[in-house]
Amino acid sequence: MPAKKAPSPPAATAAAPAQPPGAGLSLVQRALRKLGLVRDIDFALYLPMRYEDETRIVKLADTRDGDMAQVEGVVTECEVVFRPRRQLIATIDDGSDTCQLRFFNFYPSQQKQLAVGARVRVRGEVRGGFVGRQIMHPTVKAAGTALPEALTPVYSTVAGLAQPVLRREVRSGLARAVLDETIPVQIGPRGAWDLRSSLTFLHYPTPDVAMATLEDHSHPAWQRIKAEELLAQQLSQLQARLERAAQRAPMLPSSPELVASSLHAQLLAVLPFGLTGAQQRVGEEITRDLGREIPMHRLLQGDVGSGKTVVAALAAARAIDAGFQCALMAPTEILAAQHFGKLVGWLDPLLAERGLRVAWLTGSQKKKERDAMSAAVESGEAALVIGTHAVISEKVRFKNLALAIIDEQHRFGVAQRLALRGKAVGHLEPHLLMMSATPIPRTLAMSYYADLDVSTLDELPPGRTPIVTKLVADHRRDEVIARIQAQVEQGRQVYWVCPLIEESEAVDLRNATEMRDELADSLGPSVNVGLLHSRMPTAEKQAVMAAFTANEVQVLVSTTVIEVGVDVPNASLMVIEHAERFGLSQLHQLRGRVGRGAAASACVLLYAPGDSGRVGEAARARLKAMAETGDGFEIARRDLEIRGPGEFLGARQSGAPLLRFADLTTDTLLLDWARELAPVMLKKHAELAQRHIDRWLGTKAEYLKA
Ligand code: ADP
Ligand code: MG
Repeated sequence: MPAKKAPSPPAATAAAPAQPPGAGLSLVQRALRKLGLVRDIDFALYLPMRYEDETRIVKLADTRDGDMAQVEGVVTECEVVFRPRRQLIATIDDGSDTCQLRFFNFYPSQQKQLAVGARVRVRGEVRGGFVGRQIMHPTVKAAGTALPEALTPVYSTVAGLAQPVLRREVRSGLARAVLDETIPVQIGPRGAWDLRSSLTFLHYPTPDVAMATLEDHSHPAWQRIKAEELLAQQLSQLQARLERAAQRAPMLPSSPELVASSLHAQLLAVLPFGLTGAQQRVGEEITRDLGREIPMHRLLQGDVGSGKTVVAALAAARAIDAGFQCALMAPTEILAAQHFGKLVGWLDPLLAERGLRVAWLTGSQKKKERDAMSAAVESGEAALVIGTHAVISEKVRFKNLALAIIDEQHRFGVAQRLALRGKAVGHLEPHLLMMSATPIPRTLAMSYYADLDVSTLDELPPGRTPIVTKLVADHRRDEVIARIQAQVEQGRQVYWVCPLIEESEAVDLRNATEMRDELADSLGPSVNVGLLHSRMPTAEKQAVMAAFTANEVQVLVSTTVIEVGVDVPNASLMVIEHAERFGLSQLHQLRGRVGRGAAASACVLLYAPGDSGRVGEAARARLKAMAETGDGFEIARRDLEIRGPGEFLGARQSGAPLLRFADLTTDTLLLDWARELAPVMLKKHAELAQRHIDRWLGTKAEYLKA
């Protein structure tokens, strides 16, 4: 049997030896590593989240309930009691009043420290209870030592790394770190603090500082640090862009004599609609990129339903016209299958005339079929390859991949994107087109995606009617079911989305299954209710989707697998159950599944109050945003507001270093400064620029864990 671990004292008592001696350096180092603290400079840049004021001793009589206070007094009582539970209780007297100290977890050494008659310095939150003043788990030191001159930093830490240990490590890291200036004085922020004094001040501010300026990061020392951080980010992205510019990609020209008989022209001719102005403009932007020998690195953003697929197909046609291959990758098999279905319909007859075809690759494919597809990819017969990330598996070898298109790019990890780009042929990198239905607000695009070119489809295809969104409390679901009945009677189709309950897929599945049965019951035998969830075998999923597309199934109950991309224009009503549990952009994506045809469409957000009897504040903000706007850009803006950039971007697995200190919503002037300075610095002070980037972004672990 493993030995039982002794309870460890809470961090607040850590003035006593919280880490028993000999606990092993490597444990501490491992904990430090978790915080991204490896190099001296990492420690120097690891700034406190708050401070404690240990510079003053106050009188107990002057403290009020809830004050963090440091007092000094004589221990008048100290005993271990066992009821109602084991605890150490001591009393101190500082001449002005007395105060009880209480510890539930304690070391014998603490008991000794609090021997009756000892003079001690005690710090903690003072509570005024029935029994008089009391401090739970205060830090205790011997009295009489000199008071520090600076505030005491409190760092964010992890389990196994006590605050005093972390403090010590940061202090010595800061002392060792080389903090010479990397921003040349002549171009640096004027009148600002220098790096060393800023960092020193932020770790150990003098007690006379206006605390609010530290908390809101408006202090000049903070301004300096934020400027440095933003500059590092701009520099690294600019550098990535220049590196890419040094790479070579196949040039895919669109020469006029090719035009009439080209796949591109023929595809345009078979499309059942004309392009929107936005599609044309974006198509030209992409064509221009493809015609150059620098790899394209473009994000195509457009609201759900704005018609990104056609733009992708036309870009693919350009690549094929030039004699190259194109890969189109989607995050889920369902979505990939939809693309495949659509593009095969448009392109396969045209490709067949050329002895070419579209290939399909996914992980769930039978080996024999996959081998056949892989062979077609390798020979070049498969001019267009569509699939999930199986497309970039090591075994798949392209003959001459020139264009990689990633749909719903935020669902893909950095590694997968890199792997796709690694499918280069010889020294030629493929062009990269990423598509996303979640637009990036401008400030974020400027800072996090500065190395991307962005094309925006800001126009929906004609004939769409706006979707009416209604919030409906869960106890009125009968009315919603009546509404479904009415829609189906008009020949329309309906989605019913069940929420994702993260703890258990099995529960999700049960919920969805029960809902299907409930709806089938209520709607009667004339209505077919289908079920779609992520655990179904692919063939079954595809069969259900096909039945829904053909209107053999009128109501589709589903977990969030339909979130992205699914396209059934006859569906005119979407019901989202427990809408309060969904993220905002997810709700918007889901809603985008309806309103794709000419019929008036609606989205019903069913919400249920939580245990508190209310919907939480953030959830309310999300539902409100959904009810108020259908504009993807406005939704993205609000989403950013509700979640903050860290989470907003985290979900996208951007791989771009997240800003730790700067705040893009308030630090726009600093961002402008960094954007202006970065190119100058990279050009005129390349070596300093490199050192600046290394200093700020050198320890990748912390940044790339997304
Ligand atoms: P998304 O941008 O969400 O991926 P899709 O590419 O799936 O949107 O397009 C949504 C629907 O609009 C599809 O049915 C598509 O065929 C149709 N569509 C695309 N472009 C046009 C257009 N210019 N005119 C009419 N319908 C279009
Ligand atoms: Mg799409």
